[in-house]
Parts: sequence; C-alpha cells; structure tokens
Amino acid sequence: MDSVALLRRLVQIPSPNPPGDTRAIADFVAERMRAIGCAVRQLAPEAKPEALNTIAEIGRGEPRIMLHAHIDTVPIAATEAEKWSVEPYAGDIRDGALYGKGSIDDKAPLASMMLAMMDAAKQEALAGTLVLVAAAEEEVGGQLGTKWLADAGHLPACDFIIVGEQTGNRVAIAHKGVMRAAVRTSGVSVHATNPDRGVNAIVAMSKVIAALDGYHRELSERVHPVVGRPTCNIGVIEGGSTANAVPDACAIYLDRRMIPREDPEAVKAELRAVIESLDLGPAAADIGEFVYSPWFDSAVDSEYASAFMACVSEVIGDDPGPVGYLPGSDAKHLMEVARGDMIIFGPGSYEVAHAADEHVTLADYQATTDILLKFLRRTLYH
Ligand SMILES: [Zn+2]
Repeated sequence: MDSVALLRRLVQIPSPNPPGDTRAIADFVAERMRAIGCAVRQLAPEAKPEALNTIAEIGRGEPRIMLHAHIDTVPIAATEAEKWSVEPYAGDIRDGALYGKGSIDDKAPLASMMLAMMDAAKQEALAGTLVLVAAAEEEVGGQLGTKWLADAGHLPACDFIIVGEQTGNRVAIAHKGVMRAAVRTSGVSVHATNPDRGVNAIVAMSKVIAALDGYHRELSERVHPVVGRPTCNIGVIEGGSTANAVPDACAIYLDRRMIPREDPEAVKAELRAVIESLDLGPAAADIGEFVYSPWFDSAVDSEYASAFMACVSEVIGDDPGPVGYLPGSDAKHLMEVARGDMIIFGPGSYEVAHAADEHVTLADYQATTDILLKFLRRTLYH
C-alpha cells in the first residue's frame, strides 16, 4: 500500500469523538503493525471500552523513541455538514491535497508515523526501540486516552517523543494550558418599579467583568518566547429573566490560558484576588468550578532534538523553529513518560483542522514522512 493509499484508508475509517469509538481504526493500525513484525498491544480503559488505543513496538533496548498520534477526530457539526464540498470520509484528492475529516488532524501524522514504522521494520536491526502510540480520546481532552495510558503504566519511558499535530512541519516545543472557571454574583430581586430596593446581580457582574478585562490586559506583560502571552477571556454570560425585575443572579464563564511554568494554584489565587478586591456593596461574588488542563513545554537540547531539527531544515529548506503550538495536545499527558525532549510536529495548520473541507497537501504529508525517515536513519538505524 503506498503512502497516499494508506492515508486515504485511514480517512475512510470514521472515528468521530464524540462518540469516540476508535475500535475500527485502532484495529486497522494494529493489523498493519503486526503484519510488519511489531509487538502490538491494544488497550482501553474500563470506563470506556470502545476508546481503544494501539501501541506497537519494534526493536529492543535503549534508546526508546516514541511516535504519538491520536486516532479520534472531531465530529462533523450539523452546521458544518453542508459546507463540505467533498464527501468527508471518502479521502478525495483535489489539486494536490487529500480531503477528509481527520485528514490533517490527525491521520496524516499517523500515516507518516506508520510509514516510519514500516521503514524501521525493513532494517536488519535497530539501535534501540521505536514505539508507535495510536491514541484515542485526544479530541475530548485525553483523560481516558493518553493520560490513562500514562497513568496506568502502559507507556514506556522514552528518550525522545514526537507528538503528531499540525505545526507546518516545524518543531513545536510548547503549548498553553487552560484554567476554566465560573463567577457567580448574587443580589436581591424586586420589581423594576423601584430597583433601589433590590440588589442587581448584573450590575455587580459588570464590575467583575471590567476587573477581569483589566487583569487580561495586565497579563500581556508576561511573555513566553514561543507561545506568547497568557490571556483571560469571558466567553459566556447568563443572568436575569425579564426587563421588569431586578435580577438576583448572574454568571459568567471564563477561559484563562496559561503559559508554560505558570502555577495553576497561583492562577486560581490571582483570579480570586481580582474578585475579592472589588467593592460590590450588598451584592456578593464568588469564583469557582475550576477546571484545569496542563500546559506543555520542552527543550530542544538533546542529541535527538538537535538531530530532528537538522532533518527538518534539510527537508523543508527553511527555519525549523522551535515554535509554539496554539491548541493543546496530548503532549501535556506525556511529560511523566518523557525522560528526554518532546516535540510536537506534523504537516499543515491546525486552522484547517476542525472545519469543513479539512485537507492536507500531499507535498506537506510527504515532507513529514521524509523528515521522520531521515531522523530514524540518523538515530536508530545502524
Ligand atoms: Zn489533533
């Protein structure tokens, strides 16, 4: 099966999440990897047995290099379906690009990694172990996918990890984390004929919003070299039921992006301090319902990372990075497994992912594969 046929076949096995049933695609990867002589394990958490992961290994001993790609995709939203100009699970090729849901996120990186495994399998012996992790659940946060695999001890410690995502074939070494929270204000509801007898929760919230907006602007003083600044966005507001009553409750939901090395507990404390510093009179405000997703960062100092950067430069003929990656990735769940550097790498832009007419250019896909093969030749082949 050639490289284009392999990618098309992966696109033709739908794996939208939700619902997150990855059994068919995990089985396909497992079958191909067994056929070339890999040791293959298929694992799923008890809490979601249909979220099947496949881990394939070839070679033995040290060093261990991990290739990681997720096998689930986002679903096709109802509003998105009519915007597709091709059949989303056909894998059509048009103007030098392969189209389809999951084509770039994350099936092109997965296909390049499978091709790398196939190339490694052709060698007489490897100077170490190559591990392919085809992971479920990334699109819903990875808790029952890569995080579960890592926490349950199913992933070996690795000297170098490549997480496949859309970095324009550059080497990404960091992404932000996220702290979500809700702020609720409470007041006293009365008839709108005499609002001064009540306590308006929406008016109180307007002070909270202004303060959080100021906090967002102050955050711009903290700059990370590759992912930029932390941010605080208020994304949802709820409150009141009718114009002729003073509202006694209002809520907002916020998204605080954290740059690497920001301490989540310190971020919670900052947010609490913003709310507690306000004079809201008789109204009350409370922040809580925190949900945290970690940031990731790495260096590119090791011999493997340096070798990888060199391979990228040679193939793309341009600056290999390092760069930041704006969306999150499963890299955040692999930090305990990494005993060396970890990078995010793959073809194209994440802006093409999660949208109608998702596609990957065949040239970018080929470059991803070429870089992986060149890197293996330099590090694992005798
Ligand atoms: Zn992805």
